[in-house]
Amino acid sequence: MTEPVLRLEGLTVSFGTRRGRFPAVEDLSLAIAPGEVLGLVGESGSGKSTVALAVMGDLGPAGRIDRGSLRFGGRELAGLSERALRPIRGAGIAMVGQEPMAALNPSMRIGAQLAEVPRLHARVSRAEARAAAWRAAEEVRLPDPERILDSYPHQLSGGQLQRVAIAMALMARPRLLILDEPTTALDVTVEAGIVELLREIRQEHGTSMLFIGHNLALMAGICDRIAVLYSGRLVESAPAPRLFASPRHPYTRALLRALPRIEGARRPPVPLAGGQPLPHERPQGCAFAPRCGHAQGGRCDVAPVPLETAGPDETVRCLRWREIREQPIVAEPLPEARPGPAVLEVEGLTRRFRTARGTVHAVEDVSFSALEGETLAIVGESGCGKSTLARLIMGLDRPDAGRIRLTGVEVQDRPAGRRPAALTAAMQMVFQNPADTLNPSAPVGRQVMRALELFQGASSAASLRTRLSELFGLVRLPESLAARMPRQLSGGQRQRVGIARALAGDAAILVADEPVSALDASVQAAVIETLLELQRIRRATLLFISHDLALVRQIADRVMVMYLGRVLEIGPATQVFGPLAHPYTRALLAAAPRSDPTAALRPAPAGDPPSALDPPSGCPFHTRCPRRAEVPGRLCADRLPPLAEVAPGHAIRCHLSPEELRKQPPDEERRPAAPLTPSCRGAS
Ligand code: SF4
Ligand code: SF4
Repeated sequence: MTEPVLRLEGLTVSFGTRRGRFPAVEDLSLAIAPGEVLGLVGESGSGKSTVALAVMGDLGPAGRIDRGSLRFGGRELAGLSERALRPIRGAGIAMVGQEPMAALNPSMRIGAQLAEVPRLHARVSRAEARAAAWRAAEEVRLPDPERILDSYPHQLSGGQLQRVAIAMALMARPRLLILDEPTTALDVTVEAGIVELLREIRQEHGTSMLFIGHNLALMAGICDRIAVLYSGRLVESAPAPRLFASPRHPYTRALLRALPRIEGARRPPVPLAGGQPLPHERPQGCAFAPRCGHAQGGRCDVAPVPLETAGPDETVRCLRWREIREQPIVAEPLPEARPGPAVLEVEGLTRRFRTARGTVHAVEDVSFSALEGETLAIVGESGCGKSTLARLIMGLDRPDAGRIRLTGVEVQDRPAGRRPAALTAAMQMVFQNPADTLNPSAPVGRQVMRALELFQGASSAASLRTRLSELFGLVRLPESLAARMPRQLSGGQRQRVGIARALAGDAAILVADEPVSALDASVQAAVIETLLELQRIRRATLLFISHDLALVRQIADRVMVMYLGRVLEIGPATQVFGPLAHPYTRALLAAAPRSDPTAALRPAPAGDPPSALDPPSGCPFHTRCPRRAEVPGRLCADRLPPLAEVAPGHAIRCHLSPEELRKQPPDEERRPAAPLTPSCRGAS
């Protein structure tokens, strides 16, 4: 057996609080072989980030390793002093987090920050350090390294910053790279590029990686083996292809069912009921029992469940894994929408922001209508204008030109505060981060009640209370939570409060701006289910703004694709995701993660979108378009194509004809995945 780069044995970590010490990770055993990528997956609070911090020796004053061993390259790390750990960090083990800005100094140029690493670890000259910084920038495929090295962090895009953070982590050639949700804040296209880069790094340098995340589809594209954590304990570990093909633990099965899939039929993800107990609130017996459809009283709730070896390199913590032979559970396909008349009409909407550096073209000449009872998804990368469009529709910002008609009434010149109450009530918004819009010092029930008072002012106190209880029932929140403060609720519960508040005025249109992107997949599925159910019951129109193509594919009736403020495509979801689509839509689809480790690699579209401060002439996508060469002359660079109808209700903005667009160019085909490395034994 190969000597692992990292081996954890019986690792138990606890944190001290005012109410005593609580375990965050218990009895965890794992190993990572040289060149292997191990995925550590679980919902928020499962303890996965605690594992990373323990390995980095960075648990803080409240954290402590209570038991177990943590060996890196055969050397025990548990109990080492800060001084002894320092040379191991960086040169031996490096970490890249979700937020690259946290690793960078905002007031120092990128080149100087990268050059600090070799000066610290190898004591090289200034010129050698600068040359090493240049090589590092090239290695992580940063475009135009000269410019990047001379830039400050705020001048780079999110994807570029994450590449800089990876370059910095790799400069000391660590044997182990810990990646803690490294792509969570990134667009799907940028994410695909980062995953491709990590695979190349592993291939070229044989770097071992611990990839921590909650998105199993993303992990399928990079991990050799996956370990699933639940409430601080390992519940299953297996080679990735086996885990995806035949998960053994009911929790792993539930996580996979909750995953929106870019491939397959149009059906919503299946939510996982309930929440994960905190380690100190675990029930007796199996911690997953309260959420498990296979739990048996008198068996699963008696004593802690041991971790069993289930096969070569496979472990599972379930008493019934041999008996469970369930068919894969999938949600019922969504029925075809029966949309009614247009309730929202947008015509020639334009919004530009004048800044000291020039004019930002946030929304350019956007026209569309949304119908009663339909889900219209608005998709595109960061900066495409989708959130500005939502703010304009909601009256939170004023357009420079164009019209917005809400149930026939023109509202573009009426900011939110000056719209009649009936119009305000008819259109409500659900935000990405409900914590930002809830008052932290008022009970959530009172906040929903205030919205009810606003929209149903003349009603009696008793009828308002009845409405409050109806709304809580509608979004499936126990009424007992009404008295709690926002901080006392989980992320999913807070989002449901946000939805309940948005529904206080019987909204005919719900504008949901990335409503689930900050949530775990299991909670995501539950919130989506709530939104779709509400839509079905009330025939509300759902404007679903998202960068998650898989989710959009599963739930949208129609899709509008935006790029640099313009609509590039709009049409029925079945057609937009079909063979006749805009090259940009295809690039987005190709970059979306597949929940299948044997699927081919995700091709990343070249580069980041250009700045909306200086959008390119002609077709806005021409600087990244893989099909530009098929259009004769400089047409793509010089002339903006019209948004032309290619089928009833389906319009595409491209100079290529529908017949040409239908053809799949050879370079769009997915490359086969690289063979996986042999792994050493995982959990013992
Ligand atoms: S031990 Fe019982 S409750 Fe726990 S996962 Fe297995 S079947 Fe479910
Ligand atoms: S107009 Fe040209 S650059 Fe734009 S999407 Fe079509 S082929 Fe690509």
